[in-house]
Amino acid sequence: MFFLDACGLLSIVIVYVSSIFILYVSISFGFLSIYQDPEIPLCLFLFIVFLSVSSHMMAMLSDPGIIKSQDTPLLSSGIPCRVCNVIKPPRSHHCNTCEKCITNMDHHCPWINNCVGFRNRKHFILFLIYTFMTTLWAIATFLQKYLFCQSESCASSKNSFEILFCMLGGFLCLFFNLFTIFSLSEQIRVIRFNTSDIDTWQCRKFKQRPIYTNLQETFGGPFRLSWFFPVPIKINPFPVEIIEDPFNDTSQYLS
Ligand SMILES: [Zn+2]
Ligand SMILES: [Zn+2]
Repeated sequence: MFFLDACGLLSIVIVYVSSIFILYVSISFGFLSIYQDPEIPLCLFLFIVFLSVSSHMMAMLSDPGIIKSQDTPLLSSGIPCRVCNVIKPPRSHHCNTCEKCITNMDHHCPWINNCVGFRNRKHFILFLIYTFMTTLWAIATFLQKYLFCQSESCASSKNSFEILFCMLGGFLCLFFNLFTIFSLSEQIRVIRFNTSDIDTWQCRKFKQRPIYTNLQETFGGPFRLSWFFPVPIKINPFPVEIIEDPFNDTSQYLS
């Protein structure tokens, strides 16, 4: 899915331009200065960056759970959407930006130019986790270079051009790091209480169930290695699991 939304497209450009700049500054002026043998930490750092970027792409390009008109005969319950006329099963919402109804919609996120819904929440959460890790590592690298590093390579490379670039890189890292902390805390609350951002705003409450059940729904099954990688979740295709999932029945609404 790729939506031609001006705000979303601008956010995507900001994300990728900032990421390239942070990568350049943290490697050129950070890793290569402070580590005697930078190969191993650099490979690990680049691997986490790769996971962050691939998670972002999956969150951006995946179908978040769009409800189509041909799904209507398969749905056992729901109300018609007043905008796009499809039958919305419980916990689905219409997104005014995507102009679609989304299964278990959480919110529309301009940073991925897509809705966060039933099918791409996993990729969104992985993107947040890996971005948190890379920005934290980059900040630690800048701090180590300017506060603690006494080596020759550090001392000889502290010119004003580098300091300016590192300050700008550090500021961008701090911004994205705080953003991921805030968003991750929201997603932890969503999983903990079996809810979504939009349902919280609308003051809807749901029956509680074990956190592991909510995690399995988000990450596509029992715990396995694929939870940590942005591969598509292996669940029955929509809307079969919606019909069969008792937690999506209207009876779970408490208020
Ligand atoms: Zn709709
Ligand atoms: Zn949307």
